Amino acid sequence: MRILITGGAGFIGSHLSDRLLAEGHTVIAMDNLITGSTRNIEHLAGRDDFLFVKHDVTNYIYVEGRLDAVLHFASPASPIDYLQLPIQTLKVGALGTHKALGLAKEKKARFLLASTSEVYGDPLVHPQVESYAGNVDPIGPRGVYDEAKRFAEAMTMAYHRYHGVDTRIVRIFNTYGPRMRLNDGRVVPNFVAQAIAGQPLTVYGDGSQTRSFCYVSDLVDGIYRLLLSDEHEPVNIGNPHEMSVLEFAQLINRITGNPAGLVLQDKRIQGDPQTRRPDIGKARRVLNWEPKVAVEDGLRQTIDYFRKVVG
Ligand code: UDP
Repeated sequence: MRILITGGAGFIGSHLSDRLLAEGHTVIAMDNLITGSTRNIEHLAGRDDFLFVKHDVTNYIYVEGRLDAVLHFASPASPIDYLQLPIQTLKVGALGTHKALGLAKEKKARFLLASTSEVYGDPLVHPQVESYAGNVDPIGPRGVYDEAKRFAEAMTMAYHRYHGVDTRIVRIFNTYGPRMRLNDGRVVPNFVAQAIAGQPLTVYGDGSQTRSFCYVSDLVDGIYRLLLSDEHEPVNIGNPHEMSVLEFAQLINRITGNPAGLVLQDKRIQGDPQTRRPDIGKARRVLNWEPKVAVEDGLRQTIDYFRKVVG
């Protein structure tokens, strides 16, 4: 296939590009580089099956020639990023999704939307199953991301139902691995950087809030299976291994041998979900997918990467 990935220089977009190239596809990666980085794709430069285009997909997208798939991964994705870039976040979820869908329709290409567990907001159903409609505050600080992605899902289903575009929606849960931005403010880069520096880990609130962390290669495998499937309704991809943020901090300190412990800080963003764990029954059933990488193994890979980045 000849595939366009918006957000192709981002954390997930770049790993997905690697996988698609390894499967023999041709990849056009598009990114405006506000949160992505060409460092994530520099190893692909010069290949004749890979092209990078710097473009903001909230503006009209022009791609010459055939396209078989459009994967829409462009968006700030860390709470710190989307709090600093609220309008761009809303625009890429709304206008960017519209442009990417318009391109897929024009090219008769299949379309895959990178959605998020944030569509469930601070969930009242646990674990989160795809049929749960969520608990999102539209005017809260996280609303700029959550509502943008909810709109993106609605737009995707409208193009599917009204225009017959061959669409997919993946709801991505917390994912980690090499190429996360060191200063993106999320818990994994923060904790790993602090642990490497021998500093106490900054646990926000009392650390009782939970997350379930999926290693990026597992996520990419689920997305690739979804792309090849015929499933049009949203599918959760994530690792159901749930931990409190406090337990997660202790695990990272143990793996890195960091003696500095942790410090509790009153920094939780309003609406920070108290619990999050994917129900992956549908992914198991429809995609025959489940995560394979244990959190300790994934963290070791991630720690090795950050050690190199920090130098
Ligand atoms: N968090 C933390 N310390 C940090 C960064 C984040 O305790 O230095 C917490 C944050 O309050 C949240 C969880 O870790 O409860 C995950 O936050 P992240 O920003 O990684 O992503 P989210 O899952 O909230 O989108």
